[in-house]
Amino acid sequence: MSLLVVGSVAFDSVKTPFGEVHEVLGGSATYFSTAASYFTEVSIVAVVGTDFPEKHLMFLKSRRIDIEGIEKKEGKTFRWKGEYGYELNEARTLDTQLNVFQSFRPRLPDSYRDKKIVFLANIDPDLQREVLSQVKEPALVACDTMNFWIEGKRDSLLETLKLVDILLINDGEARELSGEPNLVKAANIILSYGPRTLIIKRGEYGALMFTHKKIFAAPAYPLESVFDPTGAGDCFAGGFMGYLSNTMNFEESNIRKAIIFGSVMASYNVEAFSLDRIKSLDYSEIESRYREFKGLTHFEDLT
Ligand code: AMP
Repeated sequence: MSLLVVGSVAFDSVKTPFGEVHEVLGGSATYFSTAASYFTEVSIVAVVGTDFPEKHLMFLKSRRIDIEGIEKKEGKTFRWKGEYGYELNEARTLDTQLNVFQSFRPRLPDSYRDKKIVFLANIDPDLQREVLSQVKEPALVACDTMNFWIEGKRDSLLETLKLVDILLINDGEARELSGEPNLVKAANIILSYGPRTLIIKRGEYGALMFTHKKIFAAPAYPLESVFDPTGAGDCFAGGFMGYLSNTMNFEESNIRKAIIFGSVMASYNVEAFSLDRIKSLDYSEIESRYREFKGLTHFEDLT
């Protein structure tokens, strides 16, 4: 089953303790769809400016990503600038330029309206709802966001959350969104906003899944070299939603597997700047890291 994503397609400038890049390909929808493309067909809704090079669109196409819903508009492409300290867990945003996103009014191509699985990647919550309202009968809707929108468009974000099944955010965002420092309490507050499943990404500490009944904890892959965490959250979401879209099984046991596929994709992404590591993975590399995760957490029951 194919997957629809709305999110940013961007030029990122990123500084980490290990290096620096200027205006490389990034954006929440770009990372998400590249990661998801290993599992399923993906269609993007986004906007780019006239400064966006053809070669980036060709790259997305080469991953068999449907780009009919990427509009090219007079003006400049979205730009984000951030930096990371040695702890690498949270980006410090230095600059966000919405540019062509500011006046973007998405109109979904007809072929997109029947999509069953929808991911509202990190973007203006007004746009998230505008896209969702054009999908006829979604079977599963998931969403991401960030401090920029939690602080700048809180009421609109709360409207979006009423419409989603699964919310994926990081621990800092969960604390900020709920106004509660304890993550378990924060999760209960967020579940009362609408989503029935909440996934909290904790960088090098892994991910937690909360439903009204259960908590599941997944580790992060213990990597020796983390080069650039940009896009880790989006790649997590891409692996997660890509696997769910491929299997169309939304039971909790399958959601747990999807969380591990998400963790695998995030772990590959942080090994290099931009999409350099995840743009050309072999599926066998994904499977072998999945099995390493299994080994990492397996322990015997008490006898
Ligand atoms: P993450 O997975 O959280 O590291 O996401 C990083 C990506 O989010 C970068 O490639 C940025 O281009 C994109 N991004 C940063 N800020 C925003 C924003 N306010 N809205 C949409 N996308 C953003």
